[in-house]
Amino acid sequence: MANNDIIIFDTTLRDGEQSPGCSMNLSEKMMMTEILNEMKVDVIEAGFPAASEGDFKSVLEISKNSEYSVVAGLCRAMESDIDAVINSIKPAKRGRIHSFISTSPLHMKYKLQKTPEQVLELIEKSVSYAKAHCDDVEWSAEDATRTEDDFLCRAVETAINAGATTINIPDTVGYTIPEEYEALFKMLVNRVPNIDKAILSTHCHNDLGLGVANSIAGIQGGARQVECTINGIGERAGNAALEEIVMALRVRQDKLPYKTNIVTEKLCLASKKLSEVTGFNPQPNKAIVGANAFAHESGIHQDGMLKHSNTYEIMTPESVGQIKTDLVLGKHSGRNAFNDRLKTLGHALDQDNLNLAFAKFKTLADEKKDINDADLIGIVKSL
Ligand SMILES: [Zn+2]
Repeated sequence: MANNDIIIFDTTLRDGEQSPGCSMNLSEKMMMTEILNEMKVDVIEAGFPAASEGDFKSVLEISKNSEYSVVAGLCRAMESDIDAVINSIKPAKRGRIHSFISTSPLHMKYKLQKTPEQVLELIEKSVSYAKAHCDDVEWSAEDATRTEDDFLCRAVETAINAGATTINIPDTVGYTIPEEYEALFKMLVNRVPNIDKAILSTHCHNDLGLGVANSIAGIQGGARQVECTINGIGERAGNAALEEIVMALRVRQDKLPYKTNIVTEKLCLASKKLSEVTGFNPQPNKAIVGANAFAHESGIHQDGMLKHSNTYEIMTPESVGQIKTDLVLGKHSGRNAFNDRLKTLGHALDQDNLNLAFAKFKTLADEKKDINDADLIGIVKSL
């Protein structure tokens, strides 16, 4: 892998699912797995198999159905947790064990009630155990941004010696700022003797609204994997948003000469699918995928846009798969326009279902002037 290739690690189905109101059932997770694969996400974190029977089953099914993406399962630093990951990722073409333990003084003392030496021993033991069963092992230093530098260096060195090939440095509590986070990665690159044997990763939370900025600063400091979620869903204020990181790297190639494999034209579809399964939409002014992200309201802007789209647009709506909504569906719309819009929304229907859906659409159009995307999805779901 060339040095400027960025691995996109999507944790919508694990960290994202942990956000209030975002739990997904198995068929919804399979739908998301399909779109994440189509988008060419490098790694999908599918769940936390030791957490529940349901989580175990989801990771197992995702492993069977992920053609392109590596499937990762999360575990604490204990054998029973690691075994649950090993068993659930067995059918995967490529699987990854992702083990974590806290390294900050606060977490070690109060949460784990362990000494730093005991934590180092646990890292050694858990990573070696995982490595004996799977070549691809990621280790995370939970609460890394509040960990002492010297201890973080020792912990990372221990994990790499035990066989970890990816080292994640999460900002678990969303506390860091870009300059500080970049410096943390540079510190690790400069001080950890075996750092060249692993890929460094970011994992940023958005408590101060800095998740994406911090992730990009991490890349500039030497990280080559980014952990993120569709629509930025996740614990508390959420995770860094996948679509924002990917497009920032693409649009600002002049300052950020990095490359991802993501098929950006699928970004809006992924966002829509996720909204559909979780039942809530990103706010209209959400960057990249929000309903207003490409809407121009002011007269001066509209005039500029008509003369040359670069006047007020730094990327095209097509490049992120924003659906052109200037075509309004109503009772005079034909079957083709109706079918077209359903396809853009990711619902290809067979002839029978299309007939049924079209009849329902006509009935609704008699009652309601304009039919929006949510109405259409409602029709499809009622079939
Ligand atoms: Zn997290």
